[in-house]
This record gives sequence, structure tokens and C-alpha cells, in this order.
Amino acid sequence: MIQLYQPLNFLGSIYRDIRQATIDLEMMFDILGKDPEIADRPGARPLAVDGGHLRFDNVHFSYDPEREILKGISFDVPPGKTLAIVGPSGAGKSTISRLIFRFYEPASGAITIDGQNIDAVTQQSLRAAIGMVPQDTVLFNDTIGYNIRYGRADATDAEVHEAARLAQIDHFIESVPGGYGAQVGERGLKLSGGEKQRVAIARTILKAPPILVLDEATSALDSFTEGEIQDALDRVSKGRTTLVIAHRLSTVVNADEILVLDHGRIVERGSHAALLIHNGVYAAMWNRQNEVRRAEEVLRRAAQEE
Ligand code: ADP
Ligand code: MG
Repeated sequence: MIQLYQPLNFLGSIYRDIRQATIDLEMMFDILGKDPEIADRPGARPLAVDGGHLRFDNVHFSYDPEREILKGISFDVPPGKTLAIVGPSGAGKSTISRLIFRFYEPASGAITIDGQNIDAVTQQSLRAAIGMVPQDTVLFNDTIGYNIRYGRADATDAEVHEAARLAQIDHFIESVPGGYGAQVGERGLKLSGGEKQRVAIARTILKAPPILVLDEATSALDSFTEGEIQDALDRVSKGRTTLVIAHRLSTVVNADEILVLDHGRIVERGSHAALLIHNGVYAAMWNRQNEVRRAEEVLRRAAQEE
């Protein structure tokens, strides 16, 4: 049983992350609902997307002047490639996603998309180019169809249905009374976390943004549901520039590059295979997560035998 202590401790840290992500989302809506603190520059132009080449060049950032959160972050995600960011909670992963949306501005350094500094483009065009799948999806009190079509208002019914199919939520929708017209939310249908997540993925498929940011998009799901969602996310990110922030390393194995972030610095970078060979922080995280998986398996079997 002593063996179990570490894994359970680790699950505790996942739980704390989930709490933080929920707060993050509320903060995001808060920011979206108000006049943006960061305004368009005079003469700001719309972002001209050409493939979606995302770069961070020596980005420093702090929320409070006394404490630097990002300490010189540089990376390069060529069009259509996938970058994964992993690391302990509080490392600054979500902060990177907020900077891409320009909720905040770097203290120094540059963030560019297809060579254009994001501080010089209109925010409307920037956010139109980026699809975000958050960890905890909040749906509108409207129909399921509306919630998917929100990704692109002029989508046809056929396109909405196709997006639902790709997100593997179509069978569920067809099984409920009212189908796509069924109300969700307080007075309507209550969706599980996984179902809401799939609605959000369908919305993002429909939006088909050139750049995708997935911030712990599957960390609240059990591993079976996570596998299904991951398939849907892999479909969305195919051919799109993708930044995936993940707690579970099984979701980042196929990324073109993995960054390990710790206290606002990149401490390791490389492919999954290269990082395992390097046998450093990433390899230790990988081994620890495999232990957790084994422990969960043991607990599940024990429960079944009772
Ligand atoms: P991660 O996503 O890797 O868990 P975050 O980017 O959310 O980390 O947070 C990085 C650090 O910044 C943490 O120490 C966190 O407490 C701090 N932080 C996050 N949001 C704010 C904020 N709005 N104001 C001040 N500090 C913040
Ligand atoms: Mg985070």
C-alpha cells in the first residue's frame, strides 16, 4: 500500500489543477464580458493567416511586477504541426495560452502568427483565427444545435451534423427527445462532462480555426472517455497548428515537439522518444504516470472481484 501513496498524491495535484482550470474559465468569461483591458492599437489590421505559423520569441511575462511567471519562452510551431506543453501545475502553461489570445501582453519578447506580431492585429481577427477547447466547457442555455453552430453561425444543418459526428456526439444527440433542438442547461438536458466536452469539440470542428489551443482539454475525464475524446481531438488538430497543454502524457506522445515547463522556464524539449532517452524530468513524469495507471488498474480489478 505504501506504493500507492505517490500516485494518490499525484491524483490530488490533478484535482487542484482542475479547480484552477475552472477558475481560469470563469476569469476568461469575465474578461470576454467586459471591455477588453487590452485594446486594439490605433491602425490595427486584421490578422492575415497563412498556414498559422506560431512563434514565441524570448517572451517574459509577469502578472505582478515582483514575480516573473514566464522567463524567456521561445518556441516555433510551423503550420500544421503540434507542440505540447507539459509540466507541474503553476509552471505557467495556461499563462502561455492566455498570451496567445492576448488577454495579457508580454513584458518583453514577441508573439507572432505568420510573421505578424499579435499586438499589432485586431483582437477580433486574432480570436477568430484561434479555437480553444478548455478543460471545463460551459454551454449556453439554448439548444444543442445552437451550441454547436456557435462555432460558425452560417453553417448548414449538414455541416453541424458532420461536426457532431466527428466529435462522436451525434448518436447521443439523436437519442435524446428533440435531437438537435433539445434544450441544454438549467431547465433542459443535463449533459455529463464528457458530453459537454464533445459539444465543445464539435463547435471547434465547425469553426475549423487555423490554430488550436487545447488547455487540459481531457484532464477531467476518466481514461475510457478520454480515449474517445482524444480521437476526436486528433481529428480536429490534423493539418492545423496545435498547442496542446496536457497533464496526462499519453495525449502528447505524438506531438512534433514537447516542452517541459517548470517555474516559467523550458527545462527540456524534444520528441517523446528523445525525451525518454534523455531520461530527465519528462522520463520521470512518464514513469510516474504509468505507475498511476497500474495502480488504478489494480484498484479497478479489486473492486470487480468484491
Ligand atoms: P499552469 O497552467 O502551468 O498550472 P498558470 O499559467 O495557470 O500555470 O499559472 C502560473 C503562475 O501564475 C502560478 O503561480 C499562478 O498562481 C500564477 N497566476 C495565474 N494567474 C494569475 C493571475 N491572474 N494573477 C496573478 N498570478 C496568477
Ligand atoms: Mg493551467
